[in-house]
Amino acid sequence: MIDSRPRIGFIGLGIMGAPMARNLLAAGYALTVLDIVPGATAELLAAGAAAGHTPAQVAADTDILITMLPDSPQVRDVYLGRDGAYESLREGWLSIDMSSIAPATARELAERATNAGAEALDAPVSGGDKGAIAGTLSIMVGGSAVAFERARPIFEVLGATIVHCGPAGAGQVVKVCNQVVVGVVIEAVSEALVLGAKAGVDPARIADVLQGGLAATRVLELRRDNFLGGSFDPGFRIRLHLKDLKNALELARETGVALPAAATVEQLMRAADANGRGDYDHSGLITVLEDLAGARVADAAGD
Ligand code: NAD
Repeated sequence: MIDSRPRIGFIGLGIMGAPMARNLLAAGYALTVLDIVPGATAELLAAGAAAGHTPAQVAADTDILITMLPDSPQVRDVYLGRDGAYESLREGWLSIDMSSIAPATARELAERATNAGAEALDAPVSGGDKGAIAGTLSIMVGGSAVAFERARPIFEVLGATIVHCGPAGAGQVVKVCNQVVVGVVIEAVSEALVLGAKAGVDPARIADVLQGGLAATRVLELRRDNFLGGSFDPGFRIRLHLKDLKNALELARETGVALPAAATVEQLMRAADANGRGDYDHSGLITVLEDLAGARVADAAGD
């Protein structure tokens, strides 16, 4: 039987990309993988994926290219750089960038693809490494409805909530909106716990009460042990959240929107990064507030 499923290229096999690629392989897709860190693809090659050599070659050999890279500069490099994927742009080809990057870059990639008769989707995700492993990511997609429908079977392997948000760039716009909310909520929870702890109340009791009322939040539900225990293994790194807030503030400047709270959180995350905490989980933002208050929440926590 001839396999009518598209051949897929996958570039960027890090914390998120590797498990996503594994899920596609397990679902029976033929996969060609590439990462600048050679060891990053070893497990996938052993599981039956083919080795890619350059983005241009991966794009030439596949029908659909998925990328999961850190930020806009790496995405530009992979698509538009020397031996970049867009050297193999052709009619009918589809690229899906699932990295979290600046919406303007996503729109530029889509325009170039469309001009060549190809298509490009921006499809950033939320749900973290756990969602990537379980195939339960939330996927927010920008691009044409036709390309979205073509990519849907792939998204259904990778995610549980799949939303077509609008035209090119719309997925990245929704992603930065998401990251503004998560960042501001982490900062608010941090302020509350530091205040209550320094005022002499067990922060575990504060968390219990907050979670029973209007202040309840998934941030405190999922990161309670980090906030109260003072341990910040990632998870989602402060450095990556800082990058998302930089993209949010860039979009805000382009569109003439003031983001006072997000701008403050960006500065506090920058302080965390400057103090060697860029690889902490983003809940580790609380350490900056603790420094300002001269008090540690974990020292006051009862359980
Ligand atoms: P990561 O740093 O673990 O993975 C990125 C991979 O890209 C690495 O393996 C790196 O070697 C590779 N890479 C970098 N430049 C390359 C190039 N020029 N060519 C080929 N490969 C290259 O990052 P991650 O945590 O997997 O995140 C990827 C993206 O997903 C980011 O935009 C991040 O913001 C977003 N994201 C991450 C999470 C999370 O929980 N980690 C959640 C949602 C969204």
